[in-house]
Amino acid sequence: MTFRDVLIPQSRADDAHSGARHNGAPKKAGASAHSAAGRPVPPVLVYHKVECRNEFGVTRLSPRRFAGQIEALAVGGWRTLTLNELAAVLAGTRAAGPREVAITFDDAYRGLRDYAFPALADAGFTAACAVITEYAGRLNRWDVAIGGRRFAHLAWRDIARWHGRGIEFISHTATHPRLSWLEADQAALELTRSRTMLEMVLGAPVQAIAYPYGAAGPRERELARAAGYRLGFAVLSRWRGDVLAVPRTPVYPWSTSPPVAGPWGVLERSAAQIVTRGSFVGAMWRHAHSASPRT
Ligand SMILES: [Zn+2]
Repeated sequence: MTFRDVLIPQSRADDAHSGARHNGAPKKAGASAHSAAGRPVPPVLVYHKVECRNEFGVTRLSPRRFAGQIEALAVGGWRTLTLNELAAVLAGTRAAGPREVAITFDDAYRGLRDYAFPALADAGFTAACAVITEYAGRLNRWDVAIGGRRFAHLAWRDIARWHGRGIEFISHTATHPRLSWLEADQAALELTRSRTMLEMVLGAPVQAIAYPYGAAGPRERELARAAGYRLGFAVLSRWRGDVLAVPRTPVYPWSTSPPVAGPWGVLERSAAQIVTRGSFVGAMWRHAHSASPRT
């Protein structure tokens, strides 16, 4: 079993979808005109915190562990895809290399500036980093702090500094809500506000959105498309040929090095499924908490 087999079990799936489409059947709601459900999808990894400080969570990797994973990828002959390259592969205008991977980070924590980005730069790797624009330079008060620990997000000056140095900054909405729980106009506002803010700071177009909690149904994907995004990142979903719902594999502290490779990959994916469900429970708790009257 290879890295690719584990990461993209859907690579040869969904032929029925693409076949039906080519035969003139109505397109599935939200599917892109350029989608190709049967084409292999490059592995897209998603990391969260790379920090020295510990937390009672499962999304933190120590800087040493992260650097080890990047080194293992580099030694293994992997190269990273830019967003343009990934989009071209998904659209079928560029062939997917056998050892190509896209690296993404959600939440844009400050530890990335100190540990992850320099490790990527040393390896000559690129990555996309998803920013919660209202929280740039602030603490992660949008999240539950189990054990009371808060973590700082990248400041705008950090974002501006790493932009153009191999890191592409993308939207993670303005305030990190579960978009599917918002009214359509509020969800649209989250998508456009964050994009506008990022474009203002970077002076460059922002082409991708990473949906908070990976939550993106047909409505959210359509809103993202309408807001001008050409790529949308989900978590652990299946590739169905929609560039606004690109599946990603989360990397956890127990991930193998390189991440999700080898025979443990299947077990790891199962664990990731459980954790993703856990984050859903966390979101429910936050939702309930924010809805209750404050005293
Ligand atoms: Zn997030």
